[in-house]
Amino acid sequence: MEQRQELYAGKAKSVFATDDPDHLILHFRDDTSAFDGERMESLARKGKVNNCFNAYIMEQLAAAGIPTHFVQRLSDTESVVKKLDMIPVECVVRNLAAGGLVKRLGVEEGQALNPPTFELFLKNDALHDPMINESLAETFGWATPAQLAEMKALTFRVNDVLKQLFADGGLLLVDYKLEFGLFQGEIVLGDEFSPDGCRLWDAKTREKLDKDRFRQGLGGVIEAYEEVGRRIGVRFD
Ligand code: 5GP
Repeated sequence: MEQRQELYAGKAKSVFATDDPDHLILHFRDDTSAFDGERMESLARKGKVNNCFNAYIMEQLAAAGIPTHFVQRLSDTESVVKKLDMIPVECVVRNLAAGGLVKRLGVEEGQALNPPTFELFLKNDALHDPMINESLAETFGWATPAQLAEMKALTFRVNDVLKQLFADGGLLLVDYKLEFGLFQGEIVLGDEFSPDGCRLWDAKTREKLDKDRFRQGLGGVIEAYEEVGRRIGVRFD
């Protein structure tokens, strides 16, 4: 597969066209951003770590029957994915209270959420990804009710698979964000799953081992991602 022109440069990944109209190449860069791009830093090894991490998780999800855009890892920092028509809605499931939920509702960080919560956000940097709901998504044409129902069902299926995977590594999957798109009319998981877009705590000590280390200036960001990867069986070579 031949790489063609850059289509889009996000905050941490760049997307390239290929000679095949149905496939794209994702390039995971070392760049890290927080607070809608207000803070940007380059962290050595991040591109490679997240590319390997994402490939492993996407393979686990596919093995559990969840449709994903992931095709194969191409190099240390690149992967081939199916070209999706992206739905501009972020799906968030929370198993424990943290981050935006704590800020918004004043609940205690770490409180168990039974049942886990499901939230929708509009993917829009300029508006700081505002929270939306099914009604707004339908009215403004971001997604149909049937698509939203499928996205919600898939997001919870991902929770069942990954909560267990991380638990086996002595980790709590606190919350995570997923993005979906359409491939030949089917809802498919897109974007990435890495410690950039989820919260993971050590199950015993509740030490934060995800992007909150960067957001909160705790240091050891990539070392924490590697530690999580090692515990769940990701290979970084
Ligand atoms: P919160 O709403 O608490 O800020 O985020 C909930 C979860 O979704 C966290 O795991 C967070 O990392 C992830 N998340 C939400 N929005 C984004 C986003 O725009 N980019 C990334 N990388 N993760 C996000």
